[in-house]
Amino acid sequence: MPELPEVETVRRGLEPVLAGARLARVEARRPDLRFPLPPRFAERLTGATVQTLERRAKYILARLDTGETLTVHLGMTGRFEIEGADRSRPGQFRTAASMHDKHAHILFETDQGVRITYFDPRRFGYMDLIATDALPEHAWFRGLGPEPLGNGFNAVHLAEAFAGKVQNVKATLLDQRIVAGLGNIYVCEALHRARIAPSTAAGRIGAKRLEGLTTAVKDILGEAIVAGGSTLRDFARADGELGYFQHTFRAYGRENEPCLREGCRGVIRRIVQAGRSTFHCPVCQR
Ligand code: ZN
Repeated sequence: MPELPEVETVRRGLEPVLAGARLARVEARRPDLRFPLPPRFAERLTGATVQTLERRAKYILARLDTGETLTVHLGMTGRFEIEGADRSRPGQFRTAASMHDKHAHILFETDQGVRITYFDPRRFGYMDLIATDALPEHAWFRGLGPEPLGNGFNAVHLAEAFAGKVQNVKATLLDQRIVAGLGNIYVCEALHRARIAPSTAAGRIGAKRLEGLTTAVKDILGEAIVAGGSTLRDFARADGELGYFQHTFRAYGRENEPCLREGCRGVIRRIVQAGRSTFHCPVCQR
């Protein structure tokens, strides 16, 4: 499942070819992904100009000059492929193989001669067209907490959000009302970096440690985006595929392996909290 850094990397990959471009042709090759596509989906997109490409939590938002926003969630296996991004060969699509792929569900062609294809083998991804004015109150966005990379996510916010909470910090950080778009993997990694035991009651973490925790969250996401960006540069030169990249984790998925913190002789353990696996080092996380 793509995590926030991957979604942000996809957004950054799409931005140069989509922002400011007009959608000359849109083709939906099936009526639904995870959910049905909205009525007249291709028709409502055709001719629209993408004004900006933004991200909120794990959604990519293409704001259109029609007053609607194309909202995309990649689900489990959704990815985009860009063809013809090489400006010296506009309209020269690699085609064949990808076009006959039964998982190529949605095609967008811009007036700049770029084709963007959405592939999704398992079809857990979804798209909708939502009136831009109504976006903040839409069920997918209403009540979402601050973006973890934004200024609104800081120790003061966490102190307020955690106040009086006896629930453990791991499960609390997965609450999308407290911080948006942070998934299981990066919560584990952030707690490991901040040296906070995942079972600690959220309300019992002091201001200084909350400062360390917000810094850890921002640093870890930022580093992953930079790593994803270097992957991106490799294919930004020519035609490219956007979706997933290799992560390196220090706690997540490393059960029974040695802790990678310098000087720590602990071993990473897996526990289950609120039905999700938590990977942590019982020695350096306290
Ligand atoms: Zn350790």
